[in-house]
Amino acid sequence: MKTIFIDRDGCVNVRLVGNWVMTWDDFEFMPGAISGIAALKKAGYRLILVTNQRCINLGKFSEEKLNALHDKMQNELKNEGGFFDSIYHCPHDRDENCGCRKPEPGMLLKAAEDFGDIDLSKSIMLGDQESDRLASEAAGVGNFYQISSEQTIADAAKTILAP
Ligand SMILES: [Mg+2]
Ligand SMILES: [Zn+2]
Repeated sequence: MKTIFIDRDGCVNVRLVGNWVMTWDDFEFMPGAISGIAALKKAGYRLILVTNQRCINLGKFSEEKLNALHDKMQNELKNEGGFFDSIYHCPHDRDENCGCRKPEPGMLLKAAEDFGDIDLSKSIMLGDQESDRLASEAAGVGNFYQISSEQTIADAAKTILAP
């Protein structure tokens, strides 16, 4: 099934400078994120969120609170016709040398294994950082779109869905 991997901070929501987004008050959708995600979902794409959250293993945040935050995000997206089919997060800190913290490809490879019908070479990744691009390349994902406040998910969706 045609699949798009999407990074969270800096793509779906605005990045906080010097801190992690850990409360709903701090979760501000990026311009174009809600409409772009809805457009891609309506076009039949499977959407998978892949996010580094080392705040968890630093002891600053918890899996439960992260899940609760993502539930609220999903509800907001669903109100506009979009949602993520699945959410993967890496809780590890940099020095743990895990295989899932981007730029490592572990979350993408795990998703491909879990779903079983993802052709990574035909898949797409949307990310705002070099680590997103490197993770997608390492996983063999065929297409990468750089997201910023000027090139939003809605802009990427327009390009992806152009006939
Ligand atoms: Mg990011
Ligand atoms: Zn990890």
